[in-house]
Amino acid sequence: VNMLTWPIASIGWVTSLVQQADASQERINEFLKEKPEIVNKKDTPDEIHGSIAFKNVSFTYDDTNITALKNVSFEINSGETLAIIGKTGAGKSTILELIGRLYDVEKGEICIDDKNIEELNLDSLRTSIGYVPQDAFLFSDSIKSNIKFGKTNATDQEIFEAAKNASVHKNILGFSKAYETVLGERGITLSGGQKQRVSIARAIIHDPKILLFDDCLSAVDTETEEAILNNLFKISKDKTTIIVSHRISSAKNADKIIILEDGAIVQQGTHSQLLNQPGYYKELYAKQLNEKEM
Ligand code: ADP
Repeated sequence: VNMLTWPIASIGWVTSLVQQADASQERINEFLKEKPEIVNKKDTPDEIHGSIAFKNVSFTYDDTNITALKNVSFEINSGETLAIIGKTGAGKSTILELIGRLYDVEKGEICIDDKNIEELNLDSLRTSIGYVPQDAFLFSDSIKSNIKFGKTNATDQEIFEAAKNASVHKNILGFSKAYETVLGERGITLSGGQKQRVSIARAIIHDPKILLFDDCLSAVDTETEEAILNNLFKISKDKTTIIVSHRISSAKNADKIIILEDGAIVQQGTHSQLLNQPGYYKELYAKQLNEKEM
């Protein structure tokens, strides 16, 4: 099911190339040709519980030669929440993409349930993940179809439940055609925050063991963010959750927080531990407290 959403996430990079006026068809073909194949090495399915470990992971993007991750190590147990904080370009999205095996690592290894993810059945790996990208991609179709994209055989009840947990059910009922409301060119335009929440509903509908949120709450104000996180907390209890953010408010309740800078982990700990040491986290806290972002 989730196989459908992952390729689109990586196609995003190609699309942005296409949108650059100077990107010739030749360059795009070159990119597609050079993109290394992700090989499924195991035919039989795996049951995934969701503990995640990065062991000295380094990764360089082939096409730009940018080293996005440098010797990154961290662990989270199944059911725990990890927050990743850092500036744009620090490597946060790359961590999430590597967990979904959009690319294979160059040095080190990523393990899920103590197994190298390259040895896991690729379909089992990806269907165990609910991934909410930074930019929600919604189709010019009904809200219902957009959510169902995450589980094509979902019942109406499951769709409503996912939308409730994503804090968007009431908004949807506010439209005259409710779940049949068509989005996009032929229909209505959702606000940035509503789009993100529809995208969250899509990611959680198939009840994945692992939830990856890529800075997806940045389009909403902190109050809405808190309401969404509180709702998600209920469903994320038995799920391993990674929240990428540049806001302390998204991170403070996580079991573990890592701070990334230029592809390397510079600090890690809990909210209170990080507030008790000098560094980026403490500075960001002071800054956001002033801006009332919490
Ligand atoms: P963040 O999520 O913290 O903003 P990213 O993981 O997106 O950081 O990016 C880390 C670095 O890798 C940046 O320098 C970025 O330009 C580069 N990068 C990200 N995605 C790609 C890609 N698909 N191809 C080449 N370089 C990339």
